[in-house]
Amino acid sequence: MKQELQIVKGFLMNDALIKKVAFVTGGGSGIGEASAKALAQAGAVVAIADTNLLEAERVVDEILAEGGIAKSYKLDVSVDAAVESVIAAVVKDFGGLHIAVNNAGIGGDLAPTGDQTPEGWRKVMGVNLDGVFYCMRHEIAAMKKVGGGSIINMASILGAVGFAGSSAYVAAKHGVIGLTQTAAIEYGTEGIRVNAIGPGFIATPMLAALPADAMAGIAALHPMNRLGKSEEVAALVLFLASPESSFITGGYYPVDGGYLAR
Ligand code: NAP
Repeated sequence: MKQELQIVKGFLMNDALIKKVAFVTGGGSGIGEASAKALAQAGAVVAIADTNLLEAERVVDEILAEGGIAKSYKLDVSVDAAVESVIAAVVKDFGGLHIAVNNAGIGGDLAPTGDQTPEGWRKVMGVNLDGVFYCMRHEIAAMKKVGGGSIINMASILGAVGFAGSSAYVAAKHGVIGLTQTAAIEYGTEGIRVNAIGPGFIATPMLAALPADAMAGIAALHPMNRLGKSEEVAALVLFLASPESSFITGGYYPVDGGYLAR
């Protein structure tokens, strides 16, 4: 791994993130990948955790090639003991933890609530809600040791409204927002800020599961009549990670092309 940091792509709001340690789950693809790259371009050391180690390694290689610092970790966020050991490894490797982007998530089965199975429900809740909680409990412990930090939970517009066929996903994302608000209240005086982002439909591999002919209809649900880009979500991640957002905690911020305005 390169030890010298060169910022080759600009993107610095200021130098406050240089050498800060950022942990990004699901960083091997989509929004997590864009977030990891934005943080690295701003000078953070980025720990990329993903079930898909090959893709996490690809993102690490791309960050190293740009002169940044990153390392990959294989992790299933739905297993608390695994989260604990990976966060311990990150702290050991880089000396602490300042920023966490709890982004790993899955879509789950598309079926009306009455047709959802307990197994399908549990799988989505295990990754999208339990996983965020497991990450937060170990991140909070690590951040307390460095005097604070910023936790950014990737919720969804579907953390604020319903969506037919996705009851487990919707319930998990609503839960992520409640978890975010509660932890923000609990740790506000300890320097740990906790916020949630609500992306609209973003063009990532997650949407590959949806039928191609549904895409135009989904785009039309957004007043801007298009899907979002991962980089448009990552820009908010970067802001919430930085001291520019120092009085912002407990918030839920859509990045949704106006989806929730309807
Ligand atoms: P994505 O492209 O599918 O990337 C998700 C990454 O997380 C993948 O690398 C995936 O690995 C990994 N992952 C899945 N389960 C995991 C687990 N248990 N532990 C660790 N890593 C795991 O998804 P995305 O669209 O970027 O979504 C990222 C987040 O944004 C999710 O929380 C999602 O709910 C949220 N979001 C997405 C959209 C959207 O329209 N795309 C909208 C709103 C919110 P595999 O490749 O092995 O599955």
